Amino acid sequence: MNNSIATDEPSEAIHLIIKIYACLLLAGFAFVPAYLTGYLYFFQDPSLLFENHTFHIIAITAAALEGLFVTYVTWCCYQSSGDPLLRWMTLGFLGFVMTYALHGAFTGLAHSHLWLFLLYGPASRLVMAILLLVGMLSYHQPPDSAAQRTKLRPWLTWIGLFLLVDLAVAFVANSQVAGHPAVRLSLEGGALVFSALNVAVLLLRRFRSPLMVIFAISVTAFALSSLTFILARPWNHMWWLGHAIFAAGFFLLSYGVAQAFLSTRSFSKIYSQGELMVRLAEAMAYTENALQELQRTNQELGHLAATDPLTGADNRRRFMERVEAEIDRAKRGGVPFSVLALDLDNFKSINDRFGHQVGDDILKRFVQECLESIRPYDGVARVGGEEFMILLPQTSLEGARVIAERLRNTIATTSFNISQQRLTTVTVSIGVSQYGRDGDAIEEILRVADQRLYDAKHQGRNCVVTAIKTVLQPLP
Ligand code: GH3
Ligand code: MG
Ligand code: MG
Repeated sequence: MNNSIATDEPSEAIHLIIKIYACLLLAGFAFVPAYLTGYLYFFQDPSLLFENHTFHIIAITAAALEGLFVTYVTWCCYQSSGDPLLRWMTLGFLGFVMTYALHGAFTGLAHSHLWLFLLYGPASRLVMAILLLVGMLSYHQPPDSAAQRTKLRPWLTWIGLFLLVDLAVAFVANSQVAGHPAVRLSLEGGALVFSALNVAVLLLRRFRSPLMVIFAISVTAFALSSLTFILARPWNHMWWLGHAIFAAGFFLLSYGVAQAFLSTRSFSKIYSQGELMVRLAEAMAYTENALQELQRTNQELGHLAATDPLTGADNRRRFMERVEAEIDRAKRGGVPFSVLALDLDNFKSINDRFGHQVGDDILKRFVQECLESIRPYDGVARVGGEEFMILLPQTSLEGARVIAERLRNTIATTSFNISQQRLTTVTVSIGVSQYGRDGDAIEEILRVADQRLYDAKHQGRNCVVTAIKTVLQPLP
């Protein structure tokens, strides 16, 4: 089955070919404006004009309003994520709108002040291309702090700078050099070069996220629009095509901004499908680990909640649960179980003679000895200071008596360490009861075991009692 899946999976070579095909498609799509420009360049008379001032004013006004809206959306995204690329994009769009709007506003002066009308177009594209390039270079930089984002001063400074650009363009447009082809060419050529640099940086730094692909196609359109403007004459169809190409690029980029707004509000933190799959797998693995860790911790907590911290024996609560479970099982299967109630003899005097710490050590050692004397599924619980209980599943009173006696003997013959050289002996008294024979309820069974323990103490300690008056004498 696995083999058939493996053979169904296309080879690495096919994978690579499909990847190259997808890249070529994107490049082909990004260069669509170039085919149109080429078409007009080779097949249309450049002297054909469409000089419609109203249409131009409406188009530029719409572009400026749309530009303002996109500036606002980009700014919102920046405020939310602090992504430096979005800061520069906001400035790029704002600078563009503040310069480009004058290109529309001076439409009526197209004849009297041609350069005042014309130069704001390439100037606006140059301003935007430069700021987008700076943004591109800040890609992957850490986000701006919240305080930094809301500072008004830098924004006002930039608005002042854009106004200065407007004044500078007006100054150049009214100067002697305005008509020199180098002026318009340097502005438009500058926009072309900076847009092309944007694309180059994008490709070289291998930014592959979906929004950066949109960014790359948009900036390619900006570069191609500048190329088209260079080949155009005012009002001819090439000139209008330049406007249309630029608008298409701008629309596409604003679509990217809208996507950023509707998702992470960051331009650089939108992932490709491939990246998303990897991130999803990582997140799932992380969750799985966290869940396992949680289960482990829960188990540990459950263990801690059921354990006596000094000796590691079960605590009373756990012991009661286990006895309840045994009662249920015994009711179903009819096999009896027994319990032992144990109390260390004269433990107070051990503490008094050797100290509390030695008393603690003896309690720990006592539990170890108990565990070694019983079966793995028998349970030892510490139910008081030096009082313990042992549950013996599937054991009759007689069987329990034998186990209790063996345990008593083991404890009585074990040497407990007091210090490095000194040893002492400890004895234990044990009362035994059996489910069914001595009662059916938990309280009854435990009470009878306790009574017999009390009886054992009464009988002189270090002995096992299975019934009142049935006293086993301690071994010598
Ligand atoms: P008996 O044979 O009648 O049981 O005499 P006893 O001295 O063992 O009985 P008693 O109930 O009078 O004293 C129990 C002592 O156990 C008192 C207390 O100091 C000691 N003890 C209880 N819990 C701890 C403990 O956690 N550590 C230590 N070292 N001693 C404890
Ligand atoms: Mg006691
Ligand atoms: Mg005692």
